[in-house]
This record gives sequence, structure tokens and C-alpha cells, in this order.
Amino acid sequence: MLTILNKQPSLANQYLLELRDQSIQQDRERFRRNIERLGELMAYEISRKLNYQSKSVQTPLGVSNVEVLKEKPVLITVLRAGLPYFNGFQNYFGQSDCGFIGAYRKESSTDLTIKLDYLATPTVEGRTVILIDPMLATGQSVIKSVNALLAHGNPSHLYVAALVAAPEGVKYLNENLKVQFDVWTWALDEKLNDQFYIVPGLGDAGDLSFGEKL
Ligand code: URA
Repeated sequence: MLTILNKQPSLANQYLLELRDQSIQQDRERFRRNIERLGELMAYEISRKLNYQSKSVQTPLGVSNVEVLKEKPVLITVLRAGLPYFNGFQNYFGQSDCGFIGAYRKESSTDLTIKLDYLATPTVEGRTVILIDPMLATGQSVIKSVNALLAHGNPSHLYVAALVAAPEGVKYLNENLKVQFDVWTWALDEKLNDQFYIVPGLGDAGDLSFGEKL
């Protein structure tokens, strides 16, 4: 299932607008903070879909029963662009086990391939996994990442958490992901351009967060 959070306007739209604005986005610290905020808000939205169990707590005046998370989702992100978004999720799921995947794009004039060069993950067997990859463009990095994770067990459920998604990426996941999954995004944009960037998108999320790489 695809959940597009900006279909219901909220305060989050202001953060998304600032991320897209080509002059505001030059403030790197504000850019990262806006991504982090959207990570926090999406973490909260996804938390409403997870499983809960009742727990009683002794207050100074009596006993209160509260529904608390039954299991902590595993948070996995793709380096380096995923880090600010991941920080937002980790702010809310503070006790989660976390994993990191190193992925980079190799572009030719006609093609794009994604190479993985680093994986540090807890077991994902039977667990809910949130894969935090802010720009869902071709979907290749998600497929490569999930395939690498599957060597470490089968998640019970996978949430792919994007900031902005392209229709091409969503289609690619629907055709190629072999686990039970949902895609969550703040916005579903128009298309990919010839360099496989999302249009209108916001540009290169990694470079805007951390500076241009060599
Ligand atoms: N990665 C980005 O940072 N931006 C895009 O538009 C696509 C992939």
C-alpha cells in the first residue's frame, strides 16, 4: 500500500516547501533539521499502525493502564543521504535496533546502477523493519538494500519510509519487492529526469545535507 501524507495538508507542508525551495535549501543546517522534523512526524504516523499491548503503571495516586508498543521496529537507513531522516525516526523510536547500508549511484548516459559497499545490521528475522531512504527515485537502492537484509532474516513487515517518491520508484518496488511492505512518503512527485533525479523533487538530498562529494 502507498500512503502519501501530504494529501492531508498539515504543518509538515511548510517543512517540505522549505526543503524544495532552491534558496532556502542552501541553509544546510535548516535543510537537515527540516528533514529530521519530517522523520519525526512520519515516525509518529507509522507508530499508529504498529502493534500495542497493555501495560499498567503506578502513579502517585493510583494505577493507569496504557497501550504501549509491543515491539520496537528495526530502523535501517541508507548512507549518507538517509542520515537526517533517520535521526528524526531515531528521536521517536529511541530504543530501536538500527542498521546502516552504504550505497552509491553509478550513472552512465543511459543507465543507473546502485552499488552497495557497506552493511551493518541487527537481525531482521520476524521483525518490523522501517527502511529509511528519503528519495525514492528508481527504487533500485531499496531493492538492493532489502536483498542484502534478507540474508539476515525475513522481516514480518517492511515500511519503506521516503520523503519524496517518484511514480517509477513505487512501480519498481511493487514489481520487485518480495516481502510484505508498505511505502510511506510525504509527496508523490511527477517523474524522474534523464539523470534519474525526482522532478520537481528537491535536488540531491545528500549534497544539500552534507556538501558536494568528490
Ligand atoms: N537522490 C536524490 O538525492 N535526489 C533525487 O532526486 C533522487 C535521488
